Amino acid sequence: MFSKVLIANRGEIALRVLRACKELGIQTVAVHSTADAEAMHVKLADESVCIGPPMARDSYLNIPQILAACEITGADAVHPGYGFLSENARFAEILEAHNIQFIGPSAEHIRVMGDKIAAKQTAERLGIPVVPGSAGGVDTPEEAKRISSDMGYPVLIKAASGGGGKGMQVVRSEDEIELAFSTARSEAAANFGDDTVYIEKYLGKPRHIEVQVMGDGKGHAIHLGERDCSLQRRHQKVWEEARSPALNDEQQAKIGEICANAMKGLGYSGAGTIEFLYENGEFYFIEMNTRLQVEHPVTEMITRIDLVNEQLKVACGAGLDIKQEDVRFHGHAIECRINAENAQTFRPSPGKISHYHPPGGLGVRVDSGVYQGYSIPPYYDSLIGKLIVTGRNRVECMMRLRRALDEFVIDGIETTIPLFRNLVDNADIANGAYDIHWLENYLEKTV
Ligand code: ADP
Repeated sequence: MFSKVLIANRGEIALRVLRACKELGIQTVAVHSTADAEAMHVKLADESVCIGPPMARDSYLNIPQILAACEITGADAVHPGYGFLSENARFAEILEAHNIQFIGPSAEHIRVMGDKIAAKQTAERLGIPVVPGSAGGVDTPEEAKRISSDMGYPVLIKAASGGGGKGMQVVRSEDEIELAFSTARSEAAANFGDDTVYIEKYLGKPRHIEVQVMGDGKGHAIHLGERDCSLQRRHQKVWEEARSPALNDEQQAKIGEICANAMKGLGYSGAGTIEFLYENGEFYFIEMNTRLQVEHPVTEMITRIDLVNEQLKVACGAGLDIKQEDVRFHGHAIECRINAENAQTFRPSPGKISHYHPPGGLGVRVDSGVYQGYSIPPYYDSLIGKLIVTGRNRVECMMRLRRALDEFVIDGIETTIPLFRNLVDNADIANGAYDIHWLENYLEKTV
């Protein structure tokens, strides 16, 4: 096993990784910006190194500084968490060149899946069903028109290098395509430095269902079931659950097996997530994330498998000793993303937490990096914690979630907790009857 792991991240995910390391007896190194000197991950790590000023590009994205921190502390591996450098193939290569283990898949697999067009082509080759669409990048509005009318409107123009739900344009008829095409291209260039766009059939009422996978890099791979992340705002997940209220055991086993076999074929190493839209009983691949995801705890709660622990074991060469038949699903889990934002306007609300009381009791897990007296800096993502609740079934889980949300006190800043208190009492949510547009429609009606 590694002797010392540097955690190239901040917030709740830095703590999550730190905890897994501690349990395995691995020393931990926290890195932080000047704005994060008082952060919990810095306080809990065995060592910490300041790597630069507040802006992420100068600190958490600063590869030379992170490398220097590895050298100074003698770390033998780096866990990138999610976001920041977690899907940066060059970072993985640079670490490798310095004999430091990147805890994640190979640079080659990160690169292929990071390009959404290459990812779709690879997925298709590996037997994964994909969303119908252009075979590759689309260069002219004429080509866009031809492909769209062949496929039928509505269509979606997407950025090949896109992420975070940004850079997508829905096109409902041919007269909209020219404007949408040029908007999509310039947004893609401005946001991702790459103006390549492609076209997909726009699905009207799908659910977002994703499959967690793990591979050992040598041809053994398993799936750990699905997560339903259909409750989204601006294409960003807000509430996630496992299992999906929409799938039965047979459907789960079928899509899971397709994903596990694809990862065997790829020789994938570590944790990954294969994302689908699901409509009328069919799965359509949209992308693969080659890292740990924010919502991984719901899978951990129902499989009772520590995904970070498994990532560490695979990365150090100890292999993946879990077989598919060892993976069992127990009950139901729901995660609510708690953001430091106004629950109606979603305006960020950084500042000092004057009072903090997280919920507890049976079936309640809070993954968070905040504490009473802590000041949330304005420079980063507004996710400050995740409430994860487990029950023997979905009904029990919802009852417990309502109770846990009632107990949760975060004063001094605004949070999205009030939104979840409303959602947990909504009949559609209680019935699991929602698609990827449900939350946006709901918010429009309630504001
Ligand atoms: P990103 O990498 O930016 O998150 P994704 O391709 O994962 O982009 O899509 C994010 C979300 O956008 C999906 O969860 C879904 O809500 C919506 N979306 C993406 N592709 C389609 C599509 N073809 N039809 C309808 N909605 C889509």
